[in-house]
Amino acid sequence: MSAHHCTDPQHHVHDAEGFVSAVERACRERGLRLTPIRARVLGLIATHGKPIKAYDLLDRIRSDKLEDEDSAGAAAPPTVYRALDFLLANGFIHKLESVNAFVACHHPNTAQHSVPFLICDHCHNAVELEDERIVATLDEKARSLGFLPQAQTLEVHGICARCAAVG
Ligand SMILES: [Zn+2]
Ligand SMILES: [Zn+2]
Repeated sequence: MSAHHCTDPQHHVHDAEGFVSAVERACRERGLRLTPIRARVLGLIATHGKPIKAYDLLDRIRSDKLEDEDSAGAAAPPTVYRALDFLLANGFIHKLESVNAFVACHHPNTAQHSVPFLICDHCHNAVELEDERIVATLDEKARSLGFLPQAQTLEVHGICARCAAVG
């Protein structure tokens, strides 16, 4: 098994708008429904760039809706949490457990996957460490002990290259 090298521009999506349309496309292909609230939550996460907490998302969605009373229900926390669950389950976003925040996945065409994250404690950026071997090795070792892995949380905290260069 080798780390994947991505040269396909469809695979890596870095701007928010391109990201949302990539997810729209993936939903059409997989027969999933990207409802307006799901699309809105996704758009907010993508535009934010850095990991964002659920209450910050709620705040932003509430302020959206002030002039639109009909859709006030969409800002209710359970609706937003259900939208987050949908996006997580389909691999469009990741949850960073150690900072309790959500971040867009840079390869929304891939189904749900576990990846290690590098989280900068200075600028709070989080990047996926694209090396499938780490996840595979952990999975293998766990299974060799008769353990059935169901979720992996791999989050490395530190200072990113950009912050290290400045500071
Ligand atoms: Zn990802
Ligand atoms: Zn940084």
